[in-house]
Amino acid sequence: MREYLKFYIDGKWVDPAEPKTAEVINPATEEVSGTISLGSKADVDKAVAAARKAFPGWSATSVKERLDLLKAIQAEYANRQEELGKAVTEEMGAPISLGCGFHTGLGAGHLQTAIEVLENYKFEEQRGPTLIVKEAIGVCGLITPWNWPLNQVTVKMFPALATGNTMVLKPPQLAPYSAQILAEIMDKAGVPAGVFNMVQGKGSEIGTALSRHEDVDMISFTGSEPVGAQIMKDAADTIKRVGLELGGKSAWIVLDDSKLAEHVGGATSNMMVNSGQTCSAGSRLLVPESRLDEAVEVAKQAAQAVTVGDPNGNFAMGPVVSKDQYNTVQDYIRKGLDEGAKLVAGGPGRPAGLEKGWYVQPTVFLGTNDMVIAREEIFGPVLVMIPYKDLDDAVEIANDSMFGLGGYVSGEDVATVNQISRKLRTGAVWINGGFDFHAPFGGYKRSGNGREWGEYGFDEYLEVKSLIGYAEAE
Ligand code: NDP
Repeated sequence: MREYLKFYIDGKWVDPAEPKTAEVINPATEEVSGTISLGSKADVDKAVAAARKAFPGWSATSVKERLDLLKAIQAEYANRQEELGKAVTEEMGAPISLGCGFHTGLGAGHLQTAIEVLENYKFEEQRGPTLIVKEAIGVCGLITPWNWPLNQVTVKMFPALATGNTMVLKPPQLAPYSAQILAEIMDKAGVPAGVFNMVQGKGSEIGTALSRHEDVDMISFTGSEPVGAQIMKDAADTIKRVGLELGGKSAWIVLDDSKLAEHVGGATSNMMVNSGQTCSAGSRLLVPESRLDEAVEVAKQAAQAVTVGDPNGNFAMGPVVSKDQYNTVQDYIRKGLDEGAKLVAGGPGRPAGLEKGWYVQPTVFLGTNDMVIAREEIFGPVLVMIPYKDLDDAVEIANDSMFGLGGYVSGEDVATVNQISRKLRTGAVWINGGFDFHAPFGGYKRSGNGREWGEYGFDEYLEVKSLIGYAEAE
């Protein structure tokens, strides 16, 4: 049983201003796995004050000093990587192979990327008579979700740190363990007091207090669209910068060629990774109408091949994160049936033999793009297949969404694949399974407004200052 009752503020583990706790539930067992403290505005005020006090010193450090610290964090992260992976599995139900694999790998990847970018980043540039200087924005509030808990924190924390900012992290209540261990890593690595602070608690209290705070210069948020909109409103009075990475309903276009079956199979099993709780998941699978029967059969077999069970066992998929999430996903599955989508695989209820734990069947529908299940983010292992007539039709369907986070194109003909990828109105397009830690990540339309990952992730946390008429001193 884990007990994480203290917050990390000003380089110390401290008690909350008022004692208040919440139980954390293991989604695989529905049993309590530990307890955390829930903070209040008083804790936020204390953490923000510590971050403000630390800002002048930290923002004035050299690149070398910040690189040294990032490398010390890297060593400590490596020491505790397995422990972090196990914490992810316990808090949000990812299979242990995924928790100790891709989940922790993403954190390590963002850390290594921050080091590489910092080694080469141009903080100053002379353009004609003007020296353009990029400076840390100040105190950053980082508000993160539970779905890829390590990824979401590290993709914010390391660029913020590398660019000379100080910060207050508010991790998700549903997945607070990995953030707690990350805070221990920061402490052990010697992050100066006040540079990194962490307060656990409810989004409606801690998140709101950060968003409205006079002394917070920026909020970086990943999560749902309604909360993103609320944060913008809360941040409006203080005109702070708000970076938002929100939901998605990304289309995966499979071209009509000899690899169609391979790509449909790959896209289907990809959808089920992390129980479908991925903002950039390819949750609409667009296949050529002329080969629909073949594509449906492949998707059916691929979904049925996804094993579901105890995240500590040898299964491809664990539960979804919580009872609420289970109910939401079940509602969408029922909605799909009600609106006439054809069930290809899976369906309502738990997989056979699993009576306890928030397990969902890997589900595939054949539907149309106007259905609710094709328009709203389900955030569960539910794929909607949609036939297209020709490539123009495929692009039109893909772009007919209020979201614009990601897109996928799979096919053999490079020219066609490239052409389609350019036509998608999304922040990223993954072509034939590409992956890159340095590629900017973020959304068009209601998927958000910022860009994280790599060099663009640094820009999020920097102000741009023009020194016009700047001349070298004699
Ligand atoms: P939320 O957007 O509600 O939560 C994300 C983070 O924001 C959490 O830390 C949460 O705190 C915090 N928060 C909640 N309310 C506020 C507020 N008013 N001000 C500031 N911060 C706040 O996502 P959920 O975790 O509840 O998931 C709901 C849905 O959001 C999912 O079903 C999915 O569709 C979508 N989602 C999208 C993600 C993405 O990456 N695009 C990631 C996660 C979810 P608390 O700990 O109290 O929840």
